[in-house]
Amino acid sequence: MALPVRLYRRKWVNGVSVIPERSGTAFRVARGQRLTVIDPRGQQVADLLAFNADDMAEVISSGRTLDYAETIRLTTGHILYSNRSQPMLEIVEDSVGRHDFLLTPCSYDTFHHFYPDLPPHRGCFGNLAAALEPYGVTPDAIPIAFNCFMNVPIDPDTGKLSVLPPTSKAGDRIVFRAAIDLVIGLTACSAPASNGGSFKPIHYRID
Ligand SMILES: [Zn+2]
Repeated sequence: MALPVRLYRRKWVNGVSVIPERSGTAFRVARGQRLTVIDPRGQQVADLLAFNADDMAEVISSGRTLDYAETIRLTTGHILYSNRSQPMLEIVEDSVGRHDFLLTPCSYDTFHHFYPDLPPHRGCFGNLAAALEPYGVTPDAIPIAFNCFMNVPIDPDTGKLSVLPPTSKAGDRIVFRAAIDLVIGLTACSAPASNGGSFKPIHYRID
């Protein structure tokens, strides 16, 4: 039974749940509820996945979302769509305005590729896979995550992507409203470049 394990691992601070540095979790959010993702110390990325709680084959889609938004700069008022073009989450507040929906969750392979001299870490991908396993999600079903607070500018002439420190400051947040019943996966990202070189926790709240 996964539920007692998740309750045991959940930590609370002042009414918000805490995701410790370099870890992840999964939980349900009901239609109409608001999910607030908070960067408590600043410059920390949180990878977010969303699945239809009634059919886990329906999952958040970077391609659909960017296509319909006609921008990669997603913020308040934008909708995150599923692979079946159904609205899953609406961004209703955003104190940062700089997030990424292009790059896959960091993983063992990411560390081998970019950080061959550092001890490898399972990263957001491994943390999401472990947290979502009780919901029947297999690793191959994990798509591009919405990377809250991740700062990935694109050179307009060459198309080159850069991963820079987040622009988020302590206490910054992004708030989503669930359009359907969801299973959410959420991490405190593990990759050095994405997080300004240090690993911090992520806070979240559901109301
Ligand atoms: Zn990561």
